Amino acid sequence: MTNRRQPPHDPGPVGIGTRLVAAGRGPGFSDGIVNPPVMRASTVLFDSLADLDRAIAAPDAGLYYGRRGTPTQWALEDALTGLEPGAAGTKLFPSGVAAITTALLAVVGAGDDVLITDSAYEPTRQFADQVLARFGVTTRYYDPCIGGDIAALIQPNTRAILLESPGSLSFEIQDVPAITAAARARGVVTMLDNTWGTALRLQPLALGCDISLSALTKYVGGHSDLLMGAATASEALWPRLKAATYRLGHHVSADDAALALRGLRTLEVRLDRAEASALAVARWLAWHPAVDRVLHPALPSHPGHELWKRDFTGASGLFCFVLKRGRRAHTAALIDGLVHFGIGFSWGGFESLVIPIHIAPIRTVTTVPWSGPMLRLSIGLEDPDDLIADLARGLERYEAQF
Ligand SMILES: *Cc1c(COP(=O)(O)O)cnc(C)c1O
Repeated sequence: MTNRRQPPHDPGPVGIGTRLVAAGRGPGFSDGIVNPPVMRASTVLFDSLADLDRAIAAPDAGLYYGRRGTPTQWALEDALTGLEPGAAGTKLFPSGVAAITTALLAVVGAGDDVLITDSAYEPTRQFADQVLARFGVTTRYYDPCIGGDIAALIQPNTRAILLESPGSLSFEIQDVPAITAAARARGVVTMLDNTWGTALRLQPLALGCDISLSALTKYVGGHSDLLMGAATASEALWPRLKAATYRLGHHVSADDAALALRGLRTLEVRLDRAEASALAVARWLAWHPAVDRVLHPALPSHPGHELWKRDFTGASGLFCFVLKRGRRAHTAALIDGLVHFGIGFSWGGFESLVIPIHIAPIRTVTTVPWSGPMLRLSIGLEDPDDLIADLARGLERYEAQF
């Protein structure tokens, strides 16, 4: 076992499946053991004063102190960096939210202004409104479909633009290259919450973003037993991201890093399965007479479908649908009797989930053009026919109330 940090292992021009298998398993990482061993550490002992001084002069060159990680965390960081062309490095966080808040804190200071998409994950908004505001940072929300017109919103003190595509709950697809081009022209940093697509479906850095953010809690973990976040940065932003992460004291356990690496190995097969099943369910729902609309960017009826086709290489298993009639309370008849869908937060696990959504309170500059109750589905690895049959019975129970 080496205690030196290896340069990231590049398997060369190979397909994504091959890349996921080789990722973070470079020569010297594990002495032949297939998976990087779980190295738990706070104190690291040095052989001599000279050895200690060498480490102090280059604290990132090898084992130093637990908070700077061990080869277990480094393997996961390198694996994630290797998935995004243009990435200089990745930092890990105890949750997806911590990745988002740290990326913002790495960039903004008192007197600065931040532009955040109105479709951002709700805790991202809360951090901006409740925490950044206390430190003298203003936040303005923008229409996720603004495209290049974002240029008109950029002020001299605008420091960062946060994107999320598709948007949480409402699934707007953003014109990422148009927004990042406008930002670059004015020296504004861009960061994109890529939790839905993962690096397998969308590559934010290749589209001009400076930082790619992801809740590994969802598809990378994939088994509903792990909370973790990641931020992957371009060469220009990497030093700032790395410094902010260290100074804010973020660390993930080696056990959790090993669990996330395990999830990463099967990410492509799970995502392919979830994508195909979710599309089957979405198409079936779109046809159902009780359903007003299905919010899934891979459906040609989706307003962002053309942008999605241009920038994404696929979909994942999360989408929403809207019912024609009724109110939230009526959805109990549908939801409570489902046998293959759990009721709960988060998504991207092997098991399917359903949750009712109320979107109006978390939008401030856009409104949604529907009024019926909205449900979000995370489609897991069950047989899609069983999920459809379950939903068919649920919609029958739902309609029987009117
Ligand atoms: C879940 C989620 C997060 C936050 O992840 P946690 O690990 O729960 O903190 C961030 N962004 C999006 C889009 C999410 O869905």
